[in-house]
Amino acid sequence: MSSKLKITKEGLKDIAVTVDSYRIRVLIDAKQEILNSGVYDEEQYHEILFKMFDEELIKFKLYNFLTRKKSNDFKALTKFSNENSIEITKTLSLLELLKNENLIAVNEIYDEVEGDENTPALTTFKDFDIKSFDVNPSKVKSIYEPVEIIFETHNCSGCGLCVGICPVNCLEVYNGFGKIDEEKCIRCGLCYYVCPRSYLPVSVLNMVQEGTSEIKTYSKVGQYLEAYSARTKIDEIAKSCQDGGITSTCLHYLFDAKIIDIALGAKMSKTPWRPEPIILENKDDILLSTGTKYVNNPNLKSLSEFNKRKANIAVVGVPCMMQALLKADIYNINIPALNQIKYRIGIFCMESFSYESLLKICELLNVDVSNVKKTDINKGKFFVYTKSNDELTIPIKEIGHLAREDCEVCFDLTSESADISIGSIGSPSGWNTVLIRTEVGKDLYHKLIENDLIESKELSEVKPGLPLLEKIAKIKKNKCKKHIDKKKEENLRFPRY
Ligand code: SF4
Ligand code: SF4
Ligand code: SF4
Repeated sequence: MSSKLKITKEGLKDIAVTVDSYRIRVLIDAKQEILNSGVYDEEQYHEILFKMFDEELIKFKLYNFLTRKKSNDFKALTKFSNENSIEITKTLSLLELLKNENLIAVNEIYDEVEGDENTPALTTFKDFDIKSFDVNPSKVKSIYEPVEIIFETHNCSGCGLCVGICPVNCLEVYNGFGKIDEEKCIRCGLCYYVCPRSYLPVSVLNMVQEGTSEIKTYSKVGQYLEAYSARTKIDEIAKSCQDGGITSTCLHYLFDAKIIDIALGAKMSKTPWRPEPIILENKDDILLSTGTKYVNNPNLKSLSEFNKRKANIAVVGVPCMMQALLKADIYNINIPALNQIKYRIGIFCMESFSYESLLKICELLNVDVSNVKKTDINKGKFFVYTKSNDELTIPIKEIGHLAREDCEVCFDLTSESADISIGSIGSPSGWNTVLIRTEVGKDLYHKLIENDLIESKELSEVKPGLPLLEKIAKIKKNKCKKHIDKKKEENLRFPRY
């Protein structure tokens, strides 16, 4: 995106405000620290700076546009998009940014359509009422704080993206918890900018996923193009996978067809059942990453290794990671590694545990963690299968308090921001449920069928199918709303969705 700016008095004013903006100044002031850290080279640093300049310029242009009238609506945003030859989703993402920077107030107006026996009640977007505050944007204190605030307020999903992009390498996320080296931090706020738990423009994410210019609300599993139940035909994968092996089969095909060079995922470390990020380099590595892991693992932190290495990347991760990647794509500031991601393969996730909590669950089940062969969550229970062939279970409600507090504010069960979402809920044992979200995901899935790598059925043909998936997805959304409302009541920080 490049803003088309005529040299007018207004245009010059926009440039002046942009040059003086906090996010530009901090990158210029900290140039040497950034280059010394070695995360980005000089050319990459300049590309990030210029892209940030471009983004800030169009953002202030939108702010100036909005200040010309007392109140603005969706029609005004469409006008701005047309005048500047940018997509409405871009304008809406900038609107969200201005709102979070406290430069404007946005009231979203919805229509409530009552339901009856046959049709569920519906909430539909009607319009915006946008009011601008009369301030000098350069003088407004920056909201771009380091993500320490997200860690400390128990809102961090543990996705690892902040670590993956920090320009001075001063962050660490481990076992679902983060810490920062205050001495090294240049307070650029880039971590805050990409973090899915600072603010997340969910309606823009949905619009981008669907490729629509309409604002819609999704109450269950998000937008999808096609839904299947499937299992792998690759013997090696079938023997070691958790359910239908579709995630591993996607990677197998992508490596085999030389479409990707690397994939980011999770594998078990030397400590039993403690996962760690893995960079898969070829299809033989896939077997290292099979199986579901319920302990939080910051897969995205490995991204920093790919700024200086050219590679087509697939990322396998849980919903919060898919949100982080899609958000970073919408607010693209030319981070080299992020621009190399070709596939977002999302897996379903109800909640995650710290390693200590997993040990506690093992203790409750009276099993040593080194004797655990497989873990699973199904039908409201946590299952542990042991190497001595025992099947142990505990109801989820008895261990719910052990799940990470930070996961309580997560609304997404099915990786709504992925290209393709894969899980077990809704399909029979030994099969995966697959939701195709984007054309990229659709093309990948159909290549698996064409190459005879999977057995595939319409999800509508299997039991329990979509109704169960939608029911559990709704439960997660309701739980998240309850926790966010509680945080609001207690005046605590919560993610702005
Ligand atoms: S949610 Fe992700 S990006 Fe945000 S602070 Fe946690 S690890 Fe970092
Ligand atoms: S921790 Fe965040 S604010 Fe600090 S340098 Fe890294 S990205 Fe910038
Ligand atoms: S519950 Fe949400 S925040 Fe927690 S690990 Fe899963 S996707 Fe991430």
